[in-house]
Amino acid sequence: MIVNMSEKATEQEINHIIERIREAGYQPHVTRGTERTIVACVGSGGRRHELESLAAAAGVTEVVPIAQPFKLVSRQVKPQRSTINVGGVTIGDGTFVVMAGPCSVESREQLFSTANAIKAAGATILRGGAYKPRTSPYEFQGLGVEALRLLREVREETGMPVVTEVMSTEDVDLICEHADMLQVGARNMQNFALLRRLATAKKPILLKRGPSASVKEWLLAAEYLLAGGNPDVVLCERGIKTFETETRNTLDLASLALARELSHLPVVADPSHGTGRRSLIAPMSRAAAAMGADGLIVEVHPCPERALSDGAQSLDFEGFRQLMDALAAPMRPATVLAGSAARAGSQLRA
Ligand code: PEP
Ligand code: MN
Repeated sequence: MIVNMSEKATEQEINHIIERIREAGYQPHVTRGTERTIVACVGSGGRRHELESLAAAAGVTEVVPIAQPFKLVSRQVKPQRSTINVGGVTIGDGTFVVMAGPCSVESREQLFSTANAIKAAGATILRGGAYKPRTSPYEFQGLGVEALRLLREVREETGMPVVTEVMSTEDVDLICEHADMLQVGARNMQNFALLRRLATAKKPILLKRGPSASVKEWLLAAEYLLAGGNPDVVLCERGIKTFETETRNTLDLASLALARELSHLPVVADPSHGTGRRSLIAPMSRAAAAMGADGLIVEVHPCPERALSDGAQSLDFEGFRQLMDALAAPMRPATVLAGSAARAGSQLRA
């Protein structure tokens, strides 16, 4: 349930409602907007009828059910968009944030050269996998702790915050010491033990959508993080499984837009895993920027043909510079405007 407070509600009235929600057996979550305060009641096993009665309390406009199964993640509970601070870089404030770097950290030289190249081209967050979820146990599994150390060093040298994947609850503390943001990979989106652990971490989370997860399941996975105490979540659409075999996954931009409609959390696109093809990264990135995505995460490697993972979808440095130029180039309003002006003209003449 949500208790919508009136614009004129006093602090005392709001505090009273918070207390009554606790008494009824629920946890209150307060969102203070510019005009009014909303108090969401979450949890199970409480006395719902006591919440309904709060409609009669002073300072309350209405008590309404939360329409969606995800609660704290929903825009009904928090209509204004969230901004997430990743080591000094803000995601979700209307700017388009580009995170880039290698799929896997492979060596000092590979990581440092990539970090410098993406920074020079305009990226503001470095990605790099230390622990790699690989389909086959015979594929490169990541450098682990050695990669974490390199990520920390490069972050100190370049000043760029870093994001890296966490695959296991055991690694959470160590990764928190080395990285600014922890990525939950697509395969772990519904690893509930990991989500519960990350809910208590003091670092923001990049939550990738599972390849077969619905938007509702994705947002419920995010709900685990928020309900457990971590409000700093960025969602990432990275492509889903469809019947199409020419692309590695199908980058589902409609669901990206839907996630932004249903949730206040920022949502970024991963066109690298979302297509599996280098040639499709620029067009899909432009599409994501045009539709209001909060940013991108893109794979870049100094020599993609030698990459230990995901070479086919990695851009080289020049390719990444071209992508950044493409993102800065205007879209195509002129053609559309010319067309509509011509139509308007012909209507006038008719
Ligand atoms: C990655 O970012 O390299 C990765 C493995 O991503 P995903 O979990 O989306 O497959
Ligand atoms: Mn990858």
